[in-house]
Amino acid sequence: MAKRQLVVFTDLDGTLLDHDSYDWRPAKPALDALWAASVPVVLNSSKTRSEIRSLRDELGNRDPFIVENGAAVVIPENYFEPGEEQVVPFAPHRDIILDVLDVLKDKGFAFHNFDAMTISELARITGLSEAAAAAAKARDATEPLIWQGDDAALAEFRRVLATHQLQLLQGGRFYHVMGFFDKAGAMLYLMEQYREKHLGFDVVSVALGDSPNDVRMLEQADIPVIIRGINSAQLVLTGGREPLRSIKVGPAGWNECILGLLADALN
Ligand SMILES: [Mg+2]
Repeated sequence: MAKRQLVVFTDLDGTLLDHDSYDWRPAKPALDALWAASVPVVLNSSKTRSEIRSLRDELGNRDPFIVENGAAVVIPENYFEPGEEQVVPFAPHRDIILDVLDVLKDKGFAFHNFDAMTISELARITGLSEAAAAAAKARDATEPLIWQGDDAALAEFRRVLATHQLQLLQGGRFYHVMGFFDKAGAMLYLMEQYREKHLGFDVVSVALGDSPNDVRMLEQADIPVIIRGINSAQLVLTGGREPLRSIKVGPAGWNECILGLLADALN
């Protein structure tokens, strides 16, 4: 039987990071165990390039990462092959989205989006520092918003967005307006690269998430793991595969599930 090479893809908010405090330290034992076992950890989040870069530095992570719900993959220099850092885009630019949202705001749809928020307002809403809020506003291809209308208007908003080739995904804290791409496409792209890098190995993807914007990634992963949180109970995967579900919440649940998977892999 071929040797297994695991590759971990993880959501951040509510999954590797605590929903309220953004703390990842409860997951440190599992992160250390993955590092020791040479298992890549690919951060796959709605966060921006500059937000994920600073978290990667904090974690000491050196693997590729996926930004803004799959809008782009960033591959570090000399990772799969010799050369400079590569940014592989999967989405149209954010300016196209902002133009459409301007029109819809004028039509009376009630929402408050990141571009319309000041840095201090965003810091207050998210609990982020002003520097971190500025990094969250520096977006490439997606626009988060707070919905202020009722459910009927939300359904109409979705329908109109679709006529502009845009979709609305629900994250832990915000709705995200974006093109028709997702965290799964970017994950599958990287899995191809890992398969080429580890020829002769059985390359297995483990995906961890807690919210509706993680569902496609979880469905496309070999081992899907749902981390308990405010949205996780409503998550159902199509295709009949039963996900692992953490008992603990957020990064403590992440730690629990990854250590369990690594123990299983050794048996
Ligand atoms: Mg999340």
